[in-house]
Amino acid sequence: KTWIQTGLTSKILDTIRKFGYEKPMAIQAQALPIIMSGRDCIGIAKTGSGKTLAFVLPMLRHIKDQPPVVAGDGPIALIMAPTRELVQQIHSDIKKFTKAIGVNSVPIYGGSGVAQQISELKRGAEVVVCTPGRMIDILCTSSGKITNLRRVTYLVMDEADRMFDMGFEPQITRIVQNTRPDRQTVLFSATFPRQVEILARKVLTKPVEIQV
Ligand code: AMP
Repeated sequence: KTWIQTGLTSKILDTIRKFGYEKPMAIQAQALPIIMSGRDCIGIAKTGSGKTLAFVLPMLRHIKDQPPVVAGDGPIALIMAPTRELVQQIHSDIKKFTKAIGVNSVPIYGGSGVAQQISELKRGAEVVVCTPGRMIDILCTSSGKITNLRRVTYLVMDEADRMFDMGFEPQITRIVQNTRPDRQTVLFSATFPRQVEILARKVLTKPVEIQV
């Protein structure tokens, strides 16, 4: 498979080339056509497999199909991940692409700098990458005045098994309930234990399952 066959725009293909990603990795070759088609997707894949771009690249296309985000709007895409480090990593992968296409991403995590995170959210960003705990804190303490999830139509849960191990299930469920029911949902997990399967059944609609 080549990048051309994935249906991405030329600006995104240019950026992919600039970073020297010559061809899609196995998880990307499998996941991109499914996610680009709008289907929900469960990907069983580990860190290092290239799973981040598998959900980031279709997200960029999804955002471009939506009316712009203005101040006071919540994000169109919401990505949840278990740790601050992973949130920062995903956010920096997104930024490689968004510079060229005018999309804003805000990383939200505990442990530091809540004031800056809040001011970036208030300005309005198409993408929020968050740990579930900090996101719930921000949504609840401000009763929706800082941001809201009413425009979220692209939802990603990355490393779902780790989020479970860390006890984030109640926060994830609450966050999902505040997004749009007609959203597209993507779940990545290194393993697929029963509890993750139960969550996936609740949150995804007729998902296509892939594994590398
Ligand atoms: P991930 O599993 O998403 O953390 O990605 C693992 C690493 O692979 C990251 O450093 C990416 O920058 C890199 N990567 C992602 N896609 C490709 C690709 N198609 N070709 C080469 N490297 C890639």
